[in-house]
Amino acid sequence: MRALACLVAIIVSAALLSAQRARTLDIYVVDVEGGNATLFVSPSGESLLIDTGNAGAAAARDAGRIVEAAKDAGVTHIDHLITTHWHGDHYGGLAELAMRMPIKQFIDHGKNIQPAEATDAFLDKTYPELYAKGTHTVVKAGDTIPFKGVETRVIASAGQVIAKPLPGAGKPNPFCAPMRPLEAIPEDTQSVTTYFTFGKFRALHPGDLTRDKENDLVCPANRVGTVDLLVGPHHGQDTSNGEPFVHALQPRVIVMNNGTRKGGWPVVMQSFYTSPRFEDLWQMHFSLLSGQEYTPPGLFVTNSRNGFSKEYR
Ligand SMILES: [Zn+2]
Repeated sequence: MRALACLVAIIVSAALLSAQRARTLDIYVVDVEGGNATLFVSPSGESLLIDTGNAGAAAARDAGRIVEAAKDAGVTHIDHLITTHWHGDHYGGLAELAMRMPIKQFIDHGKNIQPAEATDAFLDKTYPELYAKGTHTVVKAGDTIPFKGVETRVIASAGQVIAKPLPGAGKPNPFCAPMRPLEAIPEDTQSVTTYFTFGKFRALHPGDLTRDKENDLVCPANRVGTVDLLVGPHHGQDTSNGEPFVHALQPRVIVMNNGTRKGGWPVVMQSFYTSPRFEDLWQMHFSLLSGQEYTPPGLFVTNSRNGFSKEYR
């Protein structure tokens, strides 16, 4: 198996440098083949993982890749695990990962609103057994997560969004427009959406938050403000990533957790490429759906090369 499971490492320096070495927030976007797993490691060495990859036969593979990324980061346990929502491509590797690595805090939005046999069995029995070994926190919009050294806020959870703008945000959003028809998958709407502040750096991980909830966050006033990095935006699917949201956030860099045959929708790629301040799109795989017309140059497709990283400072 390839040694490197984590394919993009984004290293952000703190405003202040220590005498000997840069204090950085490191972000590992783990390739879980169209699922989601994003590992944040703070300057203090604390770890925060968002999602655990795919279920079923892929669970061992994806948990293994997360462990590889953690090793690379020098992390031996997960301090905070956020499960954005109860879909198999987001919580699928959780039980496998917990067997391989201690997890201290289990964070989620609460009840699954899209009953499914395997998920309900997991939530009734397996999950409580796992979090009994640590702590369990159900978060709501506005909550903070004690991720040492990085201000970490939940801005949406269980279908609710923050009532008040984040500091410095709240201006009218000129990109608001009537929403394109949306057939949202119920549980996606519940996604825990996390906003990180580190020095001047801002990052947003929306999970699979859907366009109606995106609009609640940024229309008519933009309660979020702008971000430098948008990471894990629903695999680039078009039930998320509406222009009013993406263009209001103005991410400089987007890292898309797509699979070859999942996500990377042309309408989403258009919304990314036409966004103000946009610099780079990185994607996990070449996207068959958007093809050569929209896929960025191979340099930015992480699976076109082995073990590949770029630093933003
Ligand atoms: Zn998903």
